[in-house]
Amino acid sequence: MKFTDTPLLSTIIESSPFGICIVNTDLLTVEMLNNRYVEIYGESTEFLLGESVDYLIAKGHHLDKKIVSDVILYKKTIKTAPVYLNFVPLKDQQGVNISVIYSPVLNNEGEIKKVAIWIVENDFASVDVQNGNVEKAAIDLENEHANSLLKEIPSAFAILSGKDLIFEFINSTYQNLVPGRELLGKPFLEALPELVGSDLERSLKKVYTEGIALNFSDDLVPLSNTELDALEQRYFTYRLIPRFNNEKIVDGIFIFTSEVTHAIDDKVNLERTSNNLNQIINMLPASVVIIRYDNLIVEMINDANLAYWKKTRDEVIGKPFLEILPDLSDQPFAGQLRRVMETGEIIDVKESPVLFIESDGTVRETFVDYTYQPLTGVDGKRDGVLVMSFEITDRVLAQRQLEQSANMISQANDQLSILINKLSKSESRFKLVFQKAPVAIGLLRGKDFIIESANKKILEVWGKTENIVGLTLAEALPEIKDQPFIAFLDKVYATGKPFYANEIKAMLMHDDELKELFFNVVYQPIANAEGNIADILVVAADVTEQVKARLIVEKSEAYFKMLADLVPAKISNALPTGEVTFFNKRWLEFAGMSFEDLRDFGYYQMMHPDEISKFHKGLADASSSKTAYVSEMRFKNTDGEYIWHLNIATPIFDEQGNLTMWIGSTTDIQWLKEEEQRKNDFIGMVSHELKTPLTSVNTYLQLLLRKAEKTDDEFLKRAYIQSLKQIKHMTDMINGFLDVSRLESAKLQIEKSEFDFSELIEEVCIDYKLLYSTHHFIFLPAESIIVNADRLKIAQVMNNLVGNAVKYSENGTDVIISYETFEDRIRVIVKDQGMGIKAENLKKLFEQYYRVKNNSQIAGFGIGLYLSAEIVKAHGGTMWATSEFGKGSVLYFELPLL
Ligand code: ADP
Repeated sequence: MKFTDTPLLSTIIESSPFGICIVNTDLLTVEMLNNRYVEIYGESTEFLLGESVDYLIAKGHHLDKKIVSDVILYKKTIKTAPVYLNFVPLKDQQGVNISVIYSPVLNNEGEIKKVAIWIVENDFASVDVQNGNVEKAAIDLENEHANSLLKEIPSAFAILSGKDLIFEFINSTYQNLVPGRELLGKPFLEALPELVGSDLERSLKKVYTEGIALNFSDDLVPLSNTELDALEQRYFTYRLIPRFNNEKIVDGIFIFTSEVTHAIDDKVNLERTSNNLNQIINMLPASVVIIRYDNLIVEMINDANLAYWKKTRDEVIGKPFLEILPDLSDQPFAGQLRRVMETGEIIDVKESPVLFIESDGTVRETFVDYTYQPLTGVDGKRDGVLVMSFEITDRVLAQRQLEQSANMISQANDQLSILINKLSKSESRFKLVFQKAPVAIGLLRGKDFIIESANKKILEVWGKTENIVGLTLAEALPEIKDQPFIAFLDKVYATGKPFYANEIKAMLMHDDELKELFFNVVYQPIANAEGNIADILVVAADVTEQVKARLIVEKSEAYFKMLADLVPAKISNALPTGEVTFFNKRWLEFAGMSFEDLRDFGYYQMMHPDEISKFHKGLADASSSKTAYVSEMRFKNTDGEYIWHLNIATPIFDEQGNLTMWIGSTTDIQWLKEEEQRKNDFIGMVSHELKTPLTSVNTYLQLLLRKAEKTDDEFLKRAYIQSLKQIKHMTDMINGFLDVSRLESAKLQIEKSEFDFSELIEEVCIDYKLLYSTHHFIFLPAESIIVNADRLKIAQVMNNLVGNAVKYSENGTDVIISYETFEDRIRVIVKDQGMGIKAENLKKLFEQYYRVKNNSQIAGFGIGLYLSAEIVKAHGGTMWATSEFGKGSVLYFELPLL
């Protein structure tokens, strides 16, 4: 037989306010479940019936297989400790504490065939049971199974039968509610006479007559305590369910009840406690408010906080924080509250300003120290913040005021001290000057020179501390014993006359080391009121650095002089003004004078009179162009002979570009000059000797050429032309050498005559055209112009320029000759398409014997341009060249027309 076969049992189980699950002991599978059980776990019956206990456990049901087996083994009821069930999907219930009770169900033979598992809510109020569920309820008391099961119902259970409500059945729990009192078989009001006229009596009658079930929570039921013989205020949660007979008429009442007196007490206590808590919180001097959820609802607030916010409780409870205080929305509080809820951090802020806008629009500035602490809700999640704050506005304002007045006081103080300072300045000025002076100052008293005062600087100079004040100078500076200072002071003391000394050397002890120092000192005697010398004021300026620097310079100067005496050249040194500051030994020896004599009148007297003005100009040019002036000039020796020297005057500039001195180096080149002269004389003589035969050879060759021209003998003609070319070349060369030697001995004579310049050029061109078919000679037509010059010499110049143009350019190129006339002068231009001249060589072309390097394969001596330039110069004209290297050169000369 199964339980479900028993309609009564089935009804009881179905309408039970507890969750019930009947487990078959053979298979440990679920044989029966009631609605309440299914509700608790939110499942449906079909899914659980026939399933194993293991399956239920796996689904999270509060079952324990071990307990089930213990119940089977020991045949006894086991109740587990209550557990909190977080979520029960029942109306009005957030969560409940449940206990699980495992009861053995025995058969007639006393064997365990089933285990009944009751899920009992410790507070089973408000379970809504449908009346229909009990429609066919009837208890078959004969049924042993049912009986034994009913007895095990863990709540108090009774069945009242008939209109008199006779206790037909009570389980032990019910009996335990009224221990020692006889209930079974007695009418309800007889068994419990104290309930006559009670609410409960009325409720029972209502259930019986109307056939409806009634539920009561925490209901006060005063019951007699037989032992104490007194009424007890007891609370019960109970259900009264009508029992219907087959005719669907009520014939009894089921009572399920549990005592909640204790719980009620707890509740009362809780209320009391929470009331106490409220009171305590209200008594706190701090403002307290609890704010919950993201919309910052005020859940609780104390009076202090209300006063601070200037709100009533009704204005704030249950309202969002920013709705209550919209004026705080642009202040950091709402953000901080949410942050605390989000992160769980504790915020602790000191002296935070909080600004409220008052109803009249004015701003109320307050200051608070506040903490925000996170609060967790029933589900364990952070959803609130406990805010505690202390208003410290008064303190802050007071502090501000304090600071302000402190500020004022300090300002006043500053002014006062300035005033005092001003007053005392006149007095202390001397002291201040004395102490702060950059020079060393000390006051020595009496004839023993007791150090009365010593400023910082003098202590530094002496290498001592203030400890020496009061000592005599000799005691303070024992190292000066053998130095002249005490003697100087004695003299000042004796004579009353001040003592001055510059760059005086003192050896003073600094950090156990004797140091060499230099000072400019003044010892100033100071007379007392009687006119006697009482003190000596010592003022000293440390000039060690400059003296040492000067010594170094002096030393290097000495080295320079030594070096200058060792070289064979004459070395001199002069100021920018020209005043000579140094002549080396060689100069003095050459002049046979002392330095002073040579400096004062010797130098210029020794120069050749022809060269002095040139020398001055050269120096001026050198100074402006910042280059050395190099010249050959003569100086008279002790025998009155002028000796040729190569003179190099080098200007020296400082970093700012100012001329600081001249260094002169003068080397005797007399022997070189004499050598050159001898060479020139020789060349002159040889050239002269060579010229006469060459002239006659030239004449003969011209005659022969003219004769050959009349014949057809081309070979002879060419041979004569070639020979004439060589003779011309030789003649030019010899003329050149002759001119050089004449130039050297200043014998170059210019014999001017008037002639047509274009004619001269024509002639030169004709000559070259005749002799050199290798180049194209182009004379750019120009107006004929009469010049007054040495025709032969100018022809020589032209020959030289055209000759060079041919020599230094490739065959087949053009040589272009032209001239331009200006008002007062004529400019001649000879242009070629040859190798050209590098810019750096352009100036040197006109020096004697100068030849551009790497031109050695082209014959020449480097005198042609030198001579040409000298001839042009002798005419009062100039000569120069321009060139584009590799492309050709242009040689110019200009002559004055008259
Ligand atoms: P040289 O007898 O060496 O030609 P010059 O006094 O006539 O002597 O010329 C000096 C130097 O100038 C030459 O050696 C040559 O290097 C250079 N020179 C002169 N004229 C020209 C020119 N037209 N083109 C290139 N170089 C030239």
